[in-house]
Amino acid sequence: MAGHDVADIDSLGDLRGKRVLVRSDLNVPLDTAPDGGARITDDGRVRASVPTIRRLAEAGARVVVMAHLGRPKGEPDPAYSLRPVAARLGELLGSDVAFATDTVGESATETVAGLDDGQVAVLENVRFNPGETSKEDEIRGAFASELAKLGDAFVSDGFGVVHRKQASVYDIALHLPSAMGGLVAAEVDVLRRLTHDPERPYVVVLGGSKVSDKLGVIDNLMGQADRLLIGGGMVFTFLKAQGHEVGSSLLEDDQVDTCRDYLARADETGVEIVLPTDVVVDTAFPSGDREPQPRVVAADAIPADSLGLDIGPESGAAFADAVRAARTVFWNGPMGVFETPAFADGTRAVAQALTEVDGLSVVGGGDSAAAVRTLGFDEAAFGHISTGGGASLEYLEGTELPGIAVLSR
Ligand code: ADP
Ligand code: MG
Repeated sequence: MAGHDVADIDSLGDLRGKRVLVRSDLNVPLDTAPDGGARITDDGRVRASVPTIRRLAEAGARVVVMAHLGRPKGEPDPAYSLRPVAARLGELLGSDVAFATDTVGESATETVAGLDDGQVAVLENVRFNPGETSKEDEIRGAFASELAKLGDAFVSDGFGVVHRKQASVYDIALHLPSAMGGLVAAEVDVLRRLTHDPERPYVVVLGGSKVSDKLGVIDNLMGQADRLLIGGGMVFTFLKAQGHEVGSSLLEDDQVDTCRDYLARADETGVEIVLPTDVVVDTAFPSGDREPQPRVVAADAIPADSLGLDIGPESGAAFADAVRAARTVFWNGPMGVFETPAFADGTRAVAQALTEVDGLSVVGGGDSAAAVRTLGFDEAAFGHISTGGGASLEYLEGTELPGIAVLSR
C-alpha cells in the first residue's frame, strides 16, 4: 500500500518565496458563545495541523491553508465560516494569519498576493464551492485548477480527508508538485506498523455505532489480528448471529449472516473473536427526561423490553486483560454509550488498559478520541491517537486512500 514511496516536504526543494498550498483538517466542533459568535469546543485538529504549517513558514514559504468545516451545501454559509478557526490557528502559531473570505475569488487572489515569505493565509471553507465534493471529475478538476493558481506546490496534511476524492485533497495534486505533510506521514507510519508484521499478540477492539461501516474491517483483520474484541453497538448483531435475542438493542438485521460467517471463519483462520459475556441494559435509550436504570444481564439473556448500552463488568475486565496482554492494540469505537456516565464503564476499562500496554497502542475514530478526553485520560498515555477515523479504518480495510495514492504517481 502507498505510504513510504510518497514524496515528503524535503522533496519540494527550497521553499523560500514559494506559495505552498496546504490541505489541513481543521474540521473542529463549534458551538455558540454567549456573545453569539462561534466557539471552538475542541481544537485538537487545529493543534495537530500546526507543526506542518509552522515548518513551511519557517522555511520561508508563503503558506496558503485550504480546509473545510462541516457540511455546507456547496455555497457560502456563515454558520460554517472558517474565520474563527483561522483566528485560533493564529493564536497557536503566535503570528497573524490572513483570511480570505472566498476560496478562488478576488479575496483569495489578493490575500495570497499580499503574503510575504513566512506568512500564513487561510482560505474560506473549500466546501462553499460545489466543485470540492462533486462526483464529476470535470467539475472537481475545474475547481482544483483554480485553486492550483494560488500555489507553486501542494502539501497534503489533512489525514481526516485523505480517503476522500475531493478537489483540495486529490485533484489539486494533479496540477502541482506535491508532497505529504508531517501529520499524514506520521499517521501512515503508525498504520503501516499495524499492517506490516505487528508485534504479537495483536489485539483489535471494535465498538461504536457505525456497525455496517466497520464490519468490512473485520474481514481484513481476520487474517492479521490474533484477537478481535467486539463491544459497542456491534455486539448485538453478533449475538443475534449466535441465536440469541437482543431486545431492542442496536441491530443490523441484514448483517446477521455476515457476522455468522465471521464467527465460522474465525475458527478456521485462527483469530479469536471475543464477545461480551455480560451486558448493561436499560429499558430506554438515555435521554434528559429520565434517570438511567442500568442493569447487568448475561449476554445471552437480554430481556425483550430492554436494550444493551454497554458491555458488562465481567466483560470489561476480560477485555482489559486481553488488551494488557497485547504488544500491539488498535481500538476503534466506544464500548457503550459513554456520553452517559451510567454506560461509560466498559469504555473506561478498555481505555485504561490501552494506557498500560507494553507496546504500540492506537486509538482511531472521532468518538473514541473524544471518549478518551471526556473520561479524563491523558492523551500522552496512548501510543497514538489518530485524527482520522474513517481514513484509518479504510487503510486497515486494505482500501487505497486516493489522497495518498495520488501523491505517489
Ligand atoms: P468512532 O467515531 O470512534 O468511530 P462511532 O461513530 O462508530 O465511533 O460510534 C460512537 C457512538 O457509538 C457513541 O456516540 C456511542 O454512544 C455509540 N454506542 C456505543 N455503544 C452503543 C450501543 N450499545 N448502542 C447504541 N449506541 C452505542
Ligand atoms: Mg463517530
